[in-house]
Amino acid sequence: MIGCDCSVCSSTDEKDNRLRSSIRVSTATTTLVIDTTPDFRYQMLRSKTRELDAILYTHPHKDHIAGLDDIRAYNYFNKKAMPLYANSLTEEALRRDYYYAFSDLTYPGIPEIRIIPIDNRSFIVGDIPVQPVEVWHHHMPVLGFRMGNVTYITDANRIENDQLEYIRGSQVLIINALRKEKHISHFTLQEAVDLAQSLKIPEVYFTHISHQLGLHASINAELPEGIQLAYDGLSLTITAA
Ligand SMILES: [Zn+2]
Ligand SMILES: [Zn+2]
Ligand SMILES: [Zn+2]
Repeated sequence: MIGCDCSVCSSTDEKDNRLRSSIRVSTATTTLVIDTTPDFRYQMLRSKTRELDAILYTHPHKDHIAGLDDIRAYNYFNKKAMPLYANSLTEEALRRDYYYAFSDLTYPGIPEIRIIPIDNRSFIVGDIPVQPVEVWHHHMPVLGFRMGNVTYITDANRIENDQLEYIRGSQVLIINALRKEKHISHFTLQEAVDLAQSLKIPEVYFTHISHQLGLHASINAELPEGIQLAYDGLSLTITAA
């Protein structure tokens, strides 16, 4: 957090040093990233991501879309527009915030993008099958994504029963847990633990963590078996279901 000197913000444990929430998913032939955070450029530099085939968007909040301009490097490598999978709510925000990329008057240096509208129905990106999971972020519908036996959900505080069915049976669940205190639009640590346990997911990682949650090492030690805090640079190898 800018200007904060709390124990997390001043921690020397690199697991306490977080950029905004995003993941990269790769198979032998396809690489996608979920959301383009304000840190997208640095995240791609830091992870040395040379190949990127598509972006999937969860919702239009700035901390999930603001880095889009920097897909330009991939336009150069791929020699084509970047496919952006977005629901109508996110598409509306992208068209407004990146109006210059949708203009007929193009000029060198603007990001080349192509929106692929999605809703709650499944779709395929390269060889990655994707099932959207609609979750609630206060009053905003947000898309989580199940890809094979992995489910990624960020920015939720409520999930309806019919959508829980899409998560059930996942081997790995990555889900948001903001802090211990109640929040209007994010699961607390306990709410996230309860949800993961009720779904009996064997391997669970928490993301979209606030500095208010506490030190990585001490919070991680409090968590039940099979549940841990994610951290920047965490890499998981998952066998296809
Ligand atoms: Zn802090
Ligand atoms: Zn949000
Ligand atoms: Zn967010």
